[in-house]
Amino acid sequence: MKKMGLYIHIPFCKSKCNYCNFYSYCADENEYNTYIDALISSIIAHGKTYRNRTVDTVYFGGGTPSALGTDRLNRILHAVINAFVIASDAEITFEANPTSADALDFVGLKEAGFNRISFGLQSANDNELKILGRRHTAEEAKEVIYASQNAGFDNLSLDLILCVPEQTKESLKNSIDFAASCGVQHISAYILKIEEGTPFDKIKGSLSLPTDDEQSEIYEYAVNLLEEYGYAQYEISNFAKPGFESRHNLRYWYDEEYLGLGPSAHSFIDGKRFYYPDDIKEFYANNTVFESTGGDSDEYMMLRLRLKEGLNFQQYRERFGKNVDDRIIRKASSLLPEQLVELSDDSLRLTVKGFLVSNAIIAYLLDNT
Ligand code: SF4
Repeated sequence: MKKMGLYIHIPFCKSKCNYCNFYSYCADENEYNTYIDALISSIIAHGKTYRNRTVDTVYFGGGTPSALGTDRLNRILHAVINAFVIASDAEITFEANPTSADALDFVGLKEAGFNRISFGLQSANDNELKILGRRHTAEEAKEVIYASQNAGFDNLSLDLILCVPEQTKESLKNSIDFAASCGVQHISAYILKIEEGTPFDKIKGSLSLPTDDEQSEIYEYAVNLLEEYGYAQYEISNFAKPGFESRHNLRYWYDEEYLGLGPSAHSFIDGKRFYYPDDIKEFYANNTVFESTGGDSDEYMMLRLRLKEGLNFQQYRERFGKNVDDRIIRKASSLLPEQLVELSDDSLRLTVKGFLVSNAIIAYLLDNT
């Protein structure tokens, strides 16, 4: 049977962080319940449509799934388990914000079937957390991480943000030291991007942000320190202890199928990409928007080059029945002196320096001219 991933979007947050442009907003308990009823109906309907696939990764993202509380999260997961064919070793993740996670019953969540948690730590420095608009302190985050570990969760991820205003090398080291000392298996470290329409966007002129060169230095510093702690980089922004790479997220970069339910959730099935718009009413009306066909060789290459393992030529040949174009290899060779890529007989991959300008490199390689 074909495999697919399932993404469930929870579009609620207790407040909006200053950097965030995800589709989420503050809502009351009534709205939570209305949404969950609609979500469960959608899960049941889609479960019937996709009975011919085994779901081997489930990911509750947001927004703030933990804001729903244990009972609601378990109710949704039960609906998923009943509606879809779930692999016995499925990776089942929910995202948690330390602020709302302190009220969770981690034992109950584990018993229901969740086996991985992704905590939004972002920083272990309280001044940076404040600047980011986070509602928790580092100490509060530590308490909920330990509570989840005591309940038996042994596959945890922490999100960190690089290049936060006021961040120094020392404060970043403090965040990475903190994350490693919590004994988590996975760390995502994203460079802060000022997104349009966010509170940061409105005051970006007054934010003390690093220059491009400083950003590169901070990124390379983080990659090295994470490696020292045993978190191997496997994607531009993702690091894991061996065997703890996010299986759900790897699916995106391997260009494999996934179904997304909830406003703003994207899907890639049967060669088609489609999504629910950023509007809960559109989800209630079950209106999806067709985005494009997907899964062609350029898209595959673009996604693979985000990964540390890069583009494997044999796998490419097996998938598309052709060799990687000579033109692309020639262009890649021209980037060797600047140490932006590594090229061998078997593969092409970006270096850490290359990851910093990955969009430009990939656009250059795929440009037909
Ligand atoms: S908790 Fe997460 S989704 Fe919600 S506003 Fe903050 S960053 Fe965005």
